[in-house]
Amino acid sequence: MRRVYLDNNATTRTDPGVVAKMLPFFSDDFGNASSSHGFGIEVSGAVREARRSVQALLGAAHDHEIVFTSGGTESDNAAIMAGLAAREGRDEIVTTAVEHPAILSLVEHLKETRGVTVHFIGVDARGRIDLDAFRAAVGPKTAIVSAMWANNETGTLFPVEELALVAHEAGALFHTDAVQAVGKIAIDLKATQIDFLSLSGHKLHGPKGIGALYVRKGAKFAPFIRGGHQERARRGGGTENTPGIVGLGAAAELARLRLQEDAAHIMALRDRLERGLTQKIDRCRVSGDVDNRLVNTCNIAFCDIEGEAALTHLDRAGIAASTGSACTAGSTEPSHVLRAMNVPEEALHGAIRFSLSRENTIAEIDEVLDTLPSIVARLREIARASRQVEAPLLTN
Ligand code: PLP
Repeated sequence: MRRVYLDNNATTRTDPGVVAKMLPFFSDDFGNASSSHGFGIEVSGAVREARRSVQALLGAAHDHEIVFTSGGTESDNAAIMAGLAAREGRDEIVTTAVEHPAILSLVEHLKETRGVTVHFIGVDARGRIDLDAFRAAVGPKTAIVSAMWANNETGTLFPVEELALVAHEAGALFHTDAVQAVGKIAIDLKATQIDFLSLSGHKLHGPKGIGALYVRKGAKFAPFIRGGHQERARRGGGTENTPGIVGLGAAAELARLRLQEDAAHIMALRDRLERGLTQKIDRCRVSGDVDNRLVNTCNIAFCDIEGEAALTHLDRAGIAASTGSACTAGSTEPSHVLRAMNVPEEALHGAIRFSLSRENTIAEIDEVLDTLPSIVARLREIARASRQVEAPLLTN
């Protein structure tokens, strides 16, 4: 059975060209990048090249502003902790209600264990940040502001350049979780006031377990992991993951070179999918800021179905998507992002996120358009029938 993968915000396939570039670093080029002999020097040259590729993708001013980490979660944690440590006498964090758990669970932990005050800024029905509430929350007690560039569930883009200015006016540092944005939108950090930016290799056709934190030159930074002197003593994370670093560099280079071409291809597919589904299926609505979102993300809430059930049927048909909701033992919690957007209750449980990549084709999209409408119809029929069975019971 041919399989269709539309869950690229969860992870992407590592590009075969990226894998080819990584392979020698598992064998012939095995040196430790910190060693001063020939084996190490060869490898440290490849690390430098990878750092420059990430720098170019981000439009960063200096290559040493790129610190390699184990991925998006570590970069997010490192930025928040550095921001708190950097601003003595300030013990407040401003973030948003729709961040990834990599931010939300850390700030909740800091609230409970360190008495840090956290302001969670809300969003409107399209997922746009409440700018008035944001401006009101950032003040002389704010140590760090953290707002994602692109939402992983809806693709909605936040105006992070503007948010960074507000943070700086109040003397706070600004971090953005750009894990979903990097490689999908053009970024020129030189032209912004962003202090810290997180990215992750496996979201842009690079390998898993590698990411980076951009640390603006001059921004006060304390390492999150202490140990050796790797990454100019900003991440003492032990011997560098050189195959991963080389892979991230290769993926960044590919993303930069293909950005426009990929975006046009992906957007055409996403629009075909969205138009087709909303035409073929009644009582559904697109979630997110349709005028300002990632080209690859389409989150549709279908009334009166369970998204999880639809996904199971799609999976049997060889199509992989996601709900974007967190499944906890035995129960499916609706997404905190859609809740923050006040998605109506009858649609909240029926959300499906399709996230595309450059590897998808028109034929794959048409397969979804041929498959999903009958799944939704069947699930709605089952829901209607079970309501009819329950109704007499409830009146007794
Ligand atoms: N931030 C966002 C917005 C994400 O979507 C993800 C991954 O889903 C992460 C952070 C975590 O990235 P990683 O898997 O590299 O730790």
